[in-house]
Amino acid sequence: MISVKDAVEVILKEIKPLGVESLDIMSALGRVLGEDIAAARNNPPWNNSAMDGYALRADDTKAAGPDGPVALKVIYDLPAGHAPKSAVGRGEAVRIMTGAPVPEGADSVIMVELTEAGNGTVVIRSKVNPGENIRKSGEDFKAGDVVIRKGAVIRPAEISMLATVGAPFVFAHKRPRVAVVSTGDELVDINEAPHMGKITNSNGYALSALVAECGAVPLPLGIARDTRESLRAKLEAAMEADCIISSGGVSVGDYDFVKDVLKDMGSQMIFWKVAMKPGKPLAFGVIGGKPAFGLPGNPVSSMVAFEQFVRPALLKMSGRSSIFRAALNARLTREIKVKPGRMNFVRAELKIEDAGLTVTPLDGQGSGIISTTVRANSYVIVPEDSSGFKKDETVKVQPFDESTFLKTSCSY
Ligand code: AMP
Ligand code: MG
Repeated sequence: MISVKDAVEVILKEIKPLGVESLDIMSALGRVLGEDIAAARNNPPWNNSAMDGYALRADDTKAAGPDGPVALKVIYDLPAGHAPKSAVGRGEAVRIMTGAPVPEGADSVIMVELTEAGNGTVVIRSKVNPGENIRKSGEDFKAGDVVIRKGAVIRPAEISMLATVGAPFVFAHKRPRVAVVSTGDELVDINEAPHMGKITNSNGYALSALVAECGAVPLPLGIARDTRESLRAKLEAAMEADCIISSGGVSVGDYDFVKDVLKDMGSQMIFWKVAMKPGKPLAFGVIGGKPAFGLPGNPVSSMVAFEQFVRPALLKMSGRSSIFRAALNARLTREIKVKPGRMNFVRAELKIEDAGLTVTPLDGQGSGIISTTVRANSYVIVPEDSSGFKKDETVKVQPFDESTFLKTSCSY
């Protein structure tokens, strides 16, 4: 049996990022940037006021104090969005609003709350330091700076930056289109009555949802029957996608034809028994340049196998540089006992408590028990050589997604 780590490595060696396309920045949310973004001008573009107040020369306020008022002549009003009319000379001030460019000659701004308005003048009773309340041109970034690097995920912060530098369109990596094929004579679709011997094709939906959650595009192709012909027809239709996923038919049963058919379709295929639980059988190959994954049929096994093998592959195809789920350290609230020899992914409930993270393994770890997956928010990772952990030991936990970090109450 091959280890999970080695299988991941072999798979990722075959995966390349997809090409890029030009998108308007709102459509690029969640995509991966395919180019470095450089700024054409400084930000802020000019020195500007951080306050509503008066732009002045600090030197003119040297003598100001609680008992020594200084009066400056107010030469004009300067709202945000307008250019200064003239420079500020000795003994002069400009009534300035937040964000307006600081006029020539002025080197500081006093906030309006610290002043008294006179007749065409402003009275100041405190000393102002040079540079006070001025946002310097280029203090955020300078013309020519690379402000976002190729490979970054485009989040709202990156959208803000792209808008700031005046980039309405960007090159982003294409989203992988992923064909999802379910196999099995026992399967019916969700709106058909599952008569005796039949079950609903839940994997088709689960795997499509996992694909979508990675930011890729699922192409659910429905059910292939357990014949070579039916499988071949579905898998050939799947070749229009960038990546192919099937579930079921990959173990050693009499009707498990996925391996044969993928092999017939070209390329060398690798068939593994991966040392993991759940999720042992796995087929992987590259057909016509496209990665093909034959995942196990058991609903939980296929989800775990997707998480460990397909997800990093899709994130790599999407152009991302960070492709692995983080594992967090958490305190185990009850013991875990397993047979050593395989990496176990134990479905568990991770909790954020004041004293830190705790994790509780759930009852019902069978590879067909979907209800445990619904109650769980994470996997405790039990390494291959381990027979488990005692209560209160610190263990590695992979959260399923960010919902683990959302709480019912506000955290401050
Ligand atoms: P297989 O690997 O094809 O022998 O499937 C293993 C188990 O997973 C069997 O109990 C199947 O009924 C079940 N299974 C296979 N495909 C699906 C599917 N698409 N949805 C739900 N269960 C499935
Ligand atoms: Mg089957």
